[in-house]
Amino acid sequence: MRYAAPTTIDEARALLAGDAGAIVFAGATDVVPQMRGGRPEPSMLIDLKKIDRLMSVSLDGDTWHVGAAAPSSALTANAAFAAEFPGLTEAAGLIGSDQIQNRSSLGGNLCNASPAADSVPALVVNDAIAVIAGSDGERRVPVADVVTGPGQTSLAHDEIVVCFELARPAARTSDAYLRLIPRTEMDIAVVGAGVRITLDGDGAVSAATVALGAVAPTVVRVPAAEAALVGSRLDDDALAAAADAASDACNPIDDKRGTISYRRQVAGVLTRRAAGIAADRIRTRNGQTSNEERAS
Ligand SMILES: Cc1cc2nc3c(=O)[nH]c(=O)nc-3n(C[C@H](O)[C@H](O)[C@H](O)COP(=O)(O)OP(=O)(O)OC[C@H]3O[C@@H](n4cnc5c(N)ncnc54)[C@H](O)[C@@H]3O)c2cc1C
Repeated sequence: MRYAAPTTIDEARALLAGDAGAIVFAGATDVVPQMRGGRPEPSMLIDLKKIDRLMSVSLDGDTWHVGAAAPSSALTANAAFAAEFPGLTEAAGLIGSDQIQNRSSLGGNLCNASPAADSVPALVVNDAIAVIAGSDGERRVPVADVVTGPGQTSLAHDEIVVCFELARPAARTSDAYLRLIPRTEMDIAVVGAGVRITLDGDGAVSAATVALGAVAPTVVRVPAAEAALVGSRLDDDALAAAADAASDACNPIDDKRGTISYRRQVAGVLTRRAAGIAADRIRTRNGQTSNEERAS
């Protein structure tokens, strides 16, 4: 097995294009355990972490660019990013441990194509775009369209995810991500729920996006839950309708982490809670009383 550490995207792509058995890696926190677990070794491992553009996190005008190989800790340590995308940041901060987060990347989390990948629902609710370098230059694809099934993506062999583009959130907008794991540390999600909410000046929901992980082969966007939230003030009826819609949208498997009916129920509960957290973040930022404060 050969190892290459290109410093440009073109060089990385040329290496990939020239070897059908080559793969790229960023943190290798999926690649190495998979090889140790018996997956055939690639003929070449191409390290993406020497390519500046893939490692940087920057704000250009109204768009954040998150390098596909940048470690998760580059997001959790970035106060400006975390303030605008608290939900995506908490998803990145749930991946493994500190050690894992110092290596693991959003590009690897997406392209590993696990249905339970934590950052993907949080990217999807924020309408993140994956910038993909290929033989015809760069193309921009909604993150929701990259993964096509467990372990499968729409990328060609010689394509590389360069970065994620995230438009700065509109005023009075925030997100939240919650997941349930069967243990307190280091496990993968039974269900993950990402929600982004926009409130109008009167406190009613003017826009909402909801996406679920670990409940279907790919991340599930839930338009019926979004419709239930929009126009409401997140009253109990609206939250219950959103929760029911999230439960109905699930197409989960039965496994040692949870049964189908358990996953459906948890999806509803997490959707409801994440919507409340996102809205409370907006209210707190705008100096209004949050639901938590009202309850205490
Ligand atoms: C102890 C432990 C705990 C973990 N906990 C969690 C968890 O809580 N939540 C979670 O979601 N995951 C978890 N994981 C899985 C893993 O850490 C994440 O999926 C991580 O984000 C993968 O990032 P990486 O950079 O290490 O990916 P890599 O292992 O480097 O790559 C993963 C896959 O993506 C491809 N790839 C990587 N970068 C690119 C790119 N830029 N363009 C195209 N293809 C690319 C690689 O070829 C490979 O197929 C855990 C793993 C371990 C070992």
